[in-house]
Amino acid sequence: MPELPENVKQNIREEGLPIVLEPKTRLPLYISVRELSLRYQFGTTKIQKFFEGLKEGRIYMTQCKKCGQKFFPPQGDCPICIESDVRWIPLNGEGELLTCTMILVKPPTYAHHDNYIVGIAKMKEGVRVLAWLKIDDPKKIKPKMKVRLETVKREPEQFITYEFTPI
Ligand SMILES: [Zn+2]
Repeated sequence: MPELPENVKQNIREEGLPIVLEPKTRLPLYISVRELSLRYQFGTTKIQKFFEGLKEGRIYMTQCKKCGQKFFPPQGDCPICIESDVRWIPLNGEGELLTCTMILVKPPTYAHHDNYIVGIAKMKEGVRVLAWLKIDDPKKIKPKMKVRLETVKREPEQFITYEFTPI
């Protein structure tokens, strides 16, 4: 059974209900004793090439053939033109770091990972990419530093994804 916050347990003990006062508004709030875990899923038909690319060490973006809009992560549909005519372009991997942050308080599903850095870089092709930045010493991070985006196997889960490394 999931661990409940102490004030919820106390109210269950004293009043038989998991109702507490919301700290800001002081209005009563029912806290479900069930903890839900959620696994999301999505269809990949229109972006399957992206995942095939990852297996081969390539990272693709898409570009609308009509208006030229670029998408990363790739999209099979252009929301501007409402059309599905996109070309697939492999990123060459070179990017410039725009911002990053170290994650110390991790979501429960990533609790088994060491502290990690998430960064956003502008790639040579013009798209912005959000990914983990692997660097031995975070003190070496500099504004606008050059980074390389590459496919990696994320351990211990062992699925293929992509990460930045300093160039
Ligand atoms: Zn378009």
